Amino acid sequence: MIAENNKPSEEEIALADKSDTAVSKCPSCGANLTYNPAHATLKCDYCGTEVKVDMNEYAEEIDFARIVSGNDWGDETKVFECHNCGARQILGKREISPTCAFCGTHNVVETADLSGLKPNALLPFLISKDSASKQYVKWAKKKFFAPREFKKDLKSPEKIAGHYYPAFTFDSDTRTPYSGTLGKHYYTTHRDSKGNIKRVRHTRYFNISGNLSWFFNDVFVQASKPDDTKMLKKLSPYATDSAHKYKEDFLHGFSASQYHKSGMECWQEARGIMQNEVRSRILAKYDYDVISSFNFNMHCYSTTYKYLLIPVYVGHTTYKKKLYNFYMNGQSGKVWGKTPKSPLKIGITALLGALAVAGLVVLGVLLL
Ligand SMILES: [Zn+2]
Ligand SMILES: [Zn+2]
Repeated sequence: MIAENNKPSEEEIALADKSDTAVSKCPSCGANLTYNPAHATLKCDYCGTEVKVDMNEYAEEIDFARIVSGNDWGDETKVFECHNCGARQILGKREISPTCAFCGTHNVVETADLSGLKPNALLPFLISKDSASKQYVKWAKKKFFAPREFKKDLKSPEKIAGHYYPAFTFDSDTRTPYSGTLGKHYYTTHRDSKGNIKRVRHTRYFNISGNLSWFFNDVFVQASKPDDTKMLKKLSPYATDSAHKYKEDFLHGFSASQYHKSGMECWQEARGIMQNEVRSRILAKYDYDVISSFNFNMHCYSTTYKYLLIPVYVGHTTYKKKLYNFYMNGQSGKVWGKTPKSPLKIGITALLGALAVAGLVVLGVLLL
């Protein structure tokens, strides 16, 4: 039950547990600090003071047993008190960095207070919001079908904000015993009763069996809402190998959400990815044309996981009263999204295409 404006009733506040959230304050002037990807610092937006963030702490793998036991969300309602303006609000259980509805400050929920599994890894934003804006403009201006008028007026996106999306990666040492029967085609020729030469196809079958050992490192599964799957795939790859240890410092000034798909669901997805890979690795060892039967049974050992947050800039631009969303990988700068399309340019391209085909047809007729 979230009241309008996120404003809980006195009764709701009395019933709810209090959650500890934090904002970082400037040592010189007391204003809020936010994470500045350009310098890897916490920066005061007011007086410019910068405090270094330790970038040498890398994420560790967590034993798989923990994912099995740690999946409960807990349905308690929590309240947080904005450290900036003091307003009290109800906390959505999937929020890690809720934005205060009154003053706009991001309050980061302290790890101990998070429900369910706690993120242990994070890919920090490496691109600042300013350069992300510029990179977006550059990307949009390269869009061939975007109207000239749109490109000319585009100085920056109308809105851009950094958000951390949840994901899991899995490591696993797999051993897969397998067996089956594969077939390879071969051909013979002989004369039929009328004396014509006929080519006949035969298949020679052979049995296979063995054991494949394969180590998987960082099999990536996004854990956000199903709607986000395509977008997060478009922005991949993510540098999960150099994931940092989860730290609240990286979240100041950004929003973040907890997993929507549970760790176990993500593991099932990862297992499917590994099984496909194992299957094609085994079959790639043989020269065959048909599979008559094939059985394999993948066993996973020493499985570990990382529950990590990945950085994405989310923004939009409006053109002729229509909204065009875009997304950007906060580390690599890869962009995915929509820009307006000029009907005139599409029309001309289609016409040129049709003319080219017609031209080829005419040429073909002339040459005949
Ligand atoms: Zn300051
Ligand atoms: Zn506030």
